[in-house]
Amino acid sequence: MLANLHAHTARCRHATGTDREYVEAALAAGYRAIGFSDHCPWPWDPAEMPPGYRSNVRMDAAETGGYFASLLALREEYAGRIDIRIGFEAEYLPHRVAAQDELFSRFPLDYLILGQHSFGDEWLRDWSSIPTTDESRLARYVDTCVEGLSTGRFLYLAHPDILRYEGPESVWEKHMGRLCDFLRERDLPVEVNLLGLATGRHYPSRRMLRLAAARGNWATIGVDAHSPDRYAEAPALEARARALCEEAGLPLREPPVPALSRAQPRT
Ligand SMILES: [Zn+2]
Ligand SMILES: [Zn+2]
Repeated sequence: MLANLHAHTARCRHATGTDREYVEAALAAGYRAIGFSDHCPWPWDPAEMPPGYRSNVRMDAAETGGYFASLLALREEYAGRIDIRIGFEAEYLPHRVAAQDELFSRFPLDYLILGQHSFGDEWLRDWSSIPTTDESRLARYVDTCVEGLSTGRFLYLAHPDILRYEGPESVWEKHMGRLCDFLRERDLPVEVNLLGLATGRHYPSRRMLRLAAARGNWATIGVDAHSPDRYAEAPALEARARALCEEAGLPLREPPVPALSRAQPRT
């Protein structure tokens, strides 16, 4: 792949490395375009949060300016060698969208990807990756992804198979088939997530790739880098991902690199 739009920074508190190290590692691995899509800040009202709560999965809203300043400077410095896009990976949480848009409107944001890691605010700890046999949870996950993507605010869906459903295969197929059909109609890719592949997570699953192939979808690759060395490993992991897609009969294409935002940074 020449492009990757799924990567994090140390600001999310569970990734490592400097912003520059990510750019250098991507260049060395042969990438021509990369996007930073760190876990999005939410401008929470402290009164709603558990006392003393501090996220360990995302930056604070106050760090947003530093994120853009650093990446805008790297974009300039590396111009002509590698294209840099600035985005976030965000859950679709309808009750938080307006406040988040207000925050983002101050920055030249190029794109969002949807990563539905949880239902509701994170301190509820209602994670999508908790194993479940509850069909209503699976249905709700698919409904939320479809509703979120329908708003047009997201460029693509990260790790579509993050909801860990362990009930009957026919039930899984009924709902995930709806998701695949929706993605196909919108010409959105099914992400094959290299972090999941590298760390043996339940995604990307063979059943997802097979179902997507049967529904006529196409796939792309997300490195989901949480450390710069994931870029060094990406070519080898990509070869594994490619083999899985070929086995499933799923076509693989480059991710949809967005145009640069025309918004100017405001303070
Ligand atoms: Zn992460
Ligand atoms: Zn994610």
